[in-house]
Amino acid sequence: MTTTASTSVETDYEVVIGLEVHSQLLTKSKMFCSCSTNYANDAPNTHVCPICMGMPGVLPVINEEAVSYIIMTALALHCSIPEFSKFDRKSYHYPDLMKGYQISQFDIPLSHDGYLTVKVNGQDRRIGITRVHLEEDTARSTHHQGYSLIDINRAGTPLMEIVSEPDMRSPEEARLYMQKLREILVYIGVSSGRMEEGSLRCDANVSVRPRGQKELGVKTEIKNMNSFRSVERALEFEARRQIEVLRNGGKIRQETRGWIENKGITVTQRVKEGSDDYRYFPEPDLPPLIIDPENVKRLGASLPELPDARRVRYQEQYGLSEQEANVMTEDKALGDYFELVIAASQVKEKDRRVRAKAASNWLLSEVVRLTNAHGIPVQESRLRPEALVNLLDLLDKERVTGKQAKDILDEAFTSGEMPEAIVEKKGIKPPISDQGTLERIIDEVLAKNEKAVIDYRNGKTNAVQMLIGQVMKQTRGQAKADIVQSLLRKKLDETQG
Ligand SMILES: [Zn+2]
Repeated sequence: MTTTASTSVETDYEVVIGLEVHSQLLTKSKMFCSCSTNYANDAPNTHVCPICMGMPGVLPVINEEAVSYIIMTALALHCSIPEFSKFDRKSYHYPDLMKGYQISQFDIPLSHDGYLTVKVNGQDRRIGITRVHLEEDTARSTHHQGYSLIDINRAGTPLMEIVSEPDMRSPEEARLYMQKLREILVYIGVSSGRMEEGSLRCDANVSVRPRGQKELGVKTEIKNMNSFRSVERALEFEARRQIEVLRNGGKIRQETRGWIENKGITVTQRVKEGSDDYRYFPEPDLPPLIIDPENVKRLGASLPELPDARRVRYQEQYGLSEQEANVMTEDKALGDYFELVIAASQVKEKDRRVRAKAASNWLLSEVVRLTNAHGIPVQESRLRPEALVNLLDLLDKERVTGKQAKDILDEAFTSGEMPEAIVEKKGIKPPISDQGTLERIIDEVLAKNEKAVIDYRNGKTNAVQMLIGQVMKQTRGQAKADIVQSLLRKKLDETQG
């Protein structure tokens, strides 16, 4: 089954999507107690205290770092940040909330009215952000045959909720929004961005309406999408399901539906609660949040360069293509490494772009090949930025050929040695660049391979490859392949006829 984004767009119905994204925050401790959030590798129910277990009579204390992370996110998403905000109680009777309520924010969130820009089919689309607010995560329950287990380690982890406007018009756009949002959260260091581990989660509100109709259709809420791909697939399925129901004269029921990944369908989970069912009221155990504008200014100044700014800078400052700049931005670690290589390069200002381009070429082809083969990011390899600089210097000085450089890189990647030390150790001689020497070798090869020469003259141009191979063999790989090729072709064409 192909699920391209255009299938639903091409119909006479329009899809309307809004996303609610939850992200755990990378704070050291939980939202209202001092338990550590670093529980991933620990036994269940070992990161707990009376506060996050919801014992009566205890008092929560606001985690300041979590508030700062929300403000940073809000600034990156162009949101307004009011000076006054507060926490509210959301009644919610499920076993994963031991208190019987969740501390969240209802009518006065920490921030509101921002936007995020995504590129869809080459065009910028601005998606409104309704609000970014702070709440606490629930415990984790797992269901088994006849019983359920609960792990309270996750309970009380700071959780950010980012609500978008219903501004997305295709499942593809929703996926792009999600990817862009993740990129920003990872850049500013507030989220690990790991969807597969559930630290970044997404619920979607979807409705459809006949094209041209103003009012929105009845929406359903889709849950359980654990990857960007499942977001797009689930929304494709749900939009098509709703269109089908309407075409057959049916009505859409407002409900929560779960995405079943292995079947590729959504199914009814429960009929949706309205906010009345949550009986929100101001949290009596916490003071209101008063946000100092000076603090907001300070946090704004501390924000790192955001992904879109990096994309533009890589193209303008270093002359990278849009595609190269995209890869280097999406993989922040790779982009950071790229900058270290440029910083460590002792090149004149006028040569900086040439060096950047070379560094980018080597990183995106050979280094990525090695990181994939070894299954580790470049930072965790033994290849230091200085070593890559050293290799690029050797290439610039024509001390090694491109082919030799690749072999040297392979070795430096695992051993951590400097390329010049590898050249020394292996006794690699400088490439033959003396034209006279090369021409003499070429003449010898041509004399010994008359058949290939005849083949070439009869139009079998690939005979050249064989001749180049012979010359490279004679020079033991110390000739530059491109020079050999041009000299060889010149000779073959000169003596022709
Ligand atoms: Zn605790």
